[in-house]
Amino acid sequence: MHTHKIATLISIDEAMKYRASLGTTKRVAFIPTMGALHQGHLSLVRRAREDNCLVIVSIFVNPTQFGPNEDFSKYPRTLERDVSLLYQENIEALFLPNTANMYPPNYSTYISPQSMAAELCGKTRPQHFQGVLTIVLKLFNIIRPQVAYFGKKDYQQLFLIKKMALDLNLDIDIVGVETSRDHDGLALSSRNQYLTKEERVIAPQIYAALKKAKEQAQRETKYRDPDQILKVFLKSLEPYPELKLEYVEIRRQEDLTQIHEAFLEPAVILTAVRLGSTRLIDNIEVGPYEA
Ligand code: AMP
Repeated sequence: MHTHKIATLISIDEAMKYRASLGTTKRVAFIPTMGALHQGHLSLVRRAREDNCLVIVSIFVNPTQFGPNEDFSKYPRTLERDVSLLYQENIEALFLPNTANMYPPNYSTYISPQSMAAELCGKTRPQHFQGVLTIVLKLFNIIRPQVAYFGKKDYQQLFLIKKMALDLNLDIDIVGVETSRDHDGLALSSRNQYLTKEERVIAPQIYAALKKAKEQAQRETKYRDPDQILKVFLKSLEPYPELKLEYVEIRRQEDLTQIHEAFLEPAVILTAVRLGSTRLIDNIEVGPYEA
């Protein structure tokens, strides 16, 4: 049994005082989330634990990262369950800010990424990454962690957060953690709860198609041509017309710019797919391969 008590922090003032009260002997790790926690979130928490840090998690469904016709109001909110999961992980503190405190009336300052924010997911979610970076920087300023953990599942988000840390000279290590998947390969996501039983059966085909594209690239040199790789991906999705492709692209891991030749540099295949009313994203790292 866990007798350990989690500090539950609601106000920003309280969170800042709590942070100041932590000693300097251990590093403070921070994991921002929107709740509806699953094993993916918990893998970040465990990673922080393993790295011997004091662990602070936040749960905040951030309105500024949702578009006007997106799922902000129906986003799953399962606070009681989330808290009990976090108890089992022995975290130090849980920060549960509210919207009125984070964005008081006349709130007016936003972080807007200049590169890569309008591409990939940014094409259909134009304000999304501005909302993400703004809330992440605000949370960083309140919690002042030495290290923060983010999932590779949100690959473009991880990239833009690392870029913000670099560009704005944040003294915070940004650590990317591998994607946690269900037994059938589907990337864990709070949004998987939206899927119907029938959709849930089809959803793993997204990762299956990514894996197939990667396996082709490993096996046959001619399939290392980015266009050929994308064809393998698209062909794998063909039998599933329910999966409506938003984008699939091969980019450099380094800076997410487009890659035109064979994978001499580490690359990543990124995709977003609609399934019914749910938007799913996933990715797979590929290469580098010998010429
Ligand atoms: P969210 O609650 O969706 O905003 O996610 C909070 C953090 O958990 C982000 O850093 C995500 O990238 C990460 N995350 C979400 N799903 C997964 C997953 N399946 N595997 C690893 N990390 C994840």
